Parts: sequence; structure tokens; C-alpha cells
Amino acid sequence: MKKSYFRPEIDAMSGYAPGGQPVMENLVKLNTNENPFPPSGNVIRALREFDSSSLRRYPDPASNRLRDAVAARWGYRRENVIVGNGSDDLLTMIFRAFTAPDKPMAMLFPSYSLYAELAAMQNAPVVRLPLAPRTFALPENLLERIADCNLLMLTRPNAPTGTLFPRAEVERICREFDGIVVIDEAYADFAPDNCMDLVGKFANVIVMRTFSKSFSLAGLRLGYAVADPVVVQGLMKLKDSYNSDRLAQLLGEAAFSDGETLAKHCREICAERERLACALRGIGFFVADSAANFLFASPPDRDGRRCFEEVRRRAVIVRYFPGDATGEYVRITIGTPRENRILVDFLREIYGK
Ligand SMILES: *Cc1c(COP(=O)(O)O)cnc(C)c1O
Repeated sequence: MKKSYFRPEIDAMSGYAPGGQPVMENLVKLNTNENPFPPSGNVIRALREFDSSSLRRYPDPASNRLRDAVAARWGYRRENVIVGNGSDDLLTMIFRAFTAPDKPMAMLFPSYSLYAELAAMQNAPVVRLPLAPRTFALPENLLERIADCNLLMLTRPNAPTGTLFPRAEVERICREFDGIVVIDEAYADFAPDNCMDLVGKFANVIVMRTFSKSFSLAGLRLGYAVADPVVVQGLMKLKDSYNSDRLAQLLGEAAFSDGETLAKHCREICAERERLACALRGIGFFVADSAANFLFASPPDRDGRRCFEEVRRRAVIVRYFPGDATGEYVRITIGTPRENRILVDFLREIYGK
């Protein structure tokens, strides 16, 4: 074998595998937690009125207008906010900033598997904290087990489980952990509460949001993080100069200014989520309580792979995560009422109810 020019940790990685984006007619696509609604009318208007000649110029490197809008919404200052090319971009900055071979990272399992890949790129040790089976509760000795870590990733609501860790527990962790706590709130708009206020209480907390899920803008690539100004200033050093393009900043502002559409779409998705959970339980599924726009559900035979394959044969795609703690489940994005009905009909056929 010819020698590899890659750093050994890159050769050792498998790389993050995103959910598939197949192009197929009549596909019912419930695998990557996209929003079934179109983006806000404000976005469509801003796009129509967009002056394409402005693309000649670089965008605002700091995305200050969007930062100001985000700061005003959450009661912080511009200096508390950083904008990213999707929240994955912010995660890249965070891992570059806070992990290294001598700076371990802690994450829950199951949760967003990209975190482990980003740690691998840094050659940083990963402390994996298993959640309790079925309830997906935090481990009791969490703080002891992460004492040597520099970074803790908490996803709330968690993905792929959809569950919500108690706010009081999260607050205690933020107070007692001597390291950065990232609260990834990609799905918080679908949840009854959030942790945005913890940024004001603790200088070690970063709360992350994305426009991909609740704002129906996964294709745009836009996210932001809110943290102490010292943390934001440090992350700014790691950011690509123009990490958010003109169109993303403009359309992001347009979407963000329309809280009414956001609330309406989230309300409808949550109502549909409860209907779908109820239907799945009727077929014999175990369904974890979800505060997100998806359900983590285990079929009657506890065989997640078979469920995934059976529905895929019928042109419905859900997400399946092989492995010990996850292989019993599928993760199902809440689609339109029609899409959800199609799924439920197929599941009744497959499991004979
Ligand atoms: C979807 C998702 C993200 C990524 O969001 P983008 O803004 O699309 O990069 C981050 N964290 C979690 C937990 C997610 O599910």
C-alpha cells in the first residue's frame, strides 16, 4: 500500500453519514426532519425582490443585521450572537475551539452522531454517556464522569430520541461543570420550553439554533449560537470570513421576522405529532415522548431495520440507526397529514393491525 498523506486520525474516521436525499417521484420523505410547510411568505417576497446585482459584493462578514434580530428576540446583545452556515458550521468552530488530544469532549448516546466525527477530526477523546433505555434519561453520575472533559454536548430536545432533559438538571450541569456546555436546540421551537435564559446566567453555556427545521429553510444553510461575548469573540476568530452568504442573511432575517408563521407551523406539526404517536401506539409501537418534529419509535417486533426496509419498499423513507441502543427503533419525521396517513396505513399492513 502506498503511504497515506492524510493525518492518521482522518484515515481512522468513517465520516458522518447524513440521511439520504433521494430523488424519486411520489416519495414520502420522513428521514431528515425537514419541515413539511413552505418557508414564511416573507422569505418568498424577499427572494422575489432580491437584487441579484448585489451578489457582486461580499456579504457582511459578521451578519450583523441578523445578529441584532436574534439578540432582540432573546434579550441579549449583538456581541452574544454568532451566525453560521447552518448550525453544523457552528459545531465545526466549537470543536476546533474546545477539543484537542488533551481536551476531551463528552456526549450522550444516542444523540447527534456528527459530534463524535468532529471530535475525531481533532483527535480528541470522546466520553460517551449512555442514556437510560426507553426513558432516555440522563445518567445519574454524569458530572463525575465528565470531570476531565472540556466540552459537553447536550441536545435538547434530544435527537434521535425527541426527549426533553429536565431543565433543572441541565441548569445544575451548567453551574457545576468546569467546561463549555453546548445546548443544541435545533428542535426547541417544537418543545414546551428552552434554555436560552441560561446564557445570561452562565459564561460557559452556548445555545445553538438552526433555520433548517422549524423555519423550513434546510436548503438555505443558516444557524446561530448565543453565548457570553467572550465565547462569541473567541469563536469569531475561527469562523470563515464570509461564512454566511448575502442571500442566507437576507432570507434568514425575513424568516425570523415572521414569528406568527413559525408559531403556526410548529403548533400544527406538534398536533400532528401527537396524532401520529397515538396511531403508532395503536399498532403496538413503543413511542418515546417527543418534544421535536419527529418520533423515535420501536415496532412491535423491535426490529428497526426491518421496519425501515419494509416502508422503503413502499416508497416511504424513515431513518434507521443500526447499533445496540438504536437498532430497535426508527426515527420518523412528522410529515403532512397525508404523508403520515400513508405511513400509518403501510405500518398497519406490515404489522397486521
Ligand atoms: C439538524 C440538526 C443540526 C444541523 O442543523 P443545520 O443548521 O442544518 O446544520 C444540528 N443539530 C442537530 C441535533 C440537528 O438535528
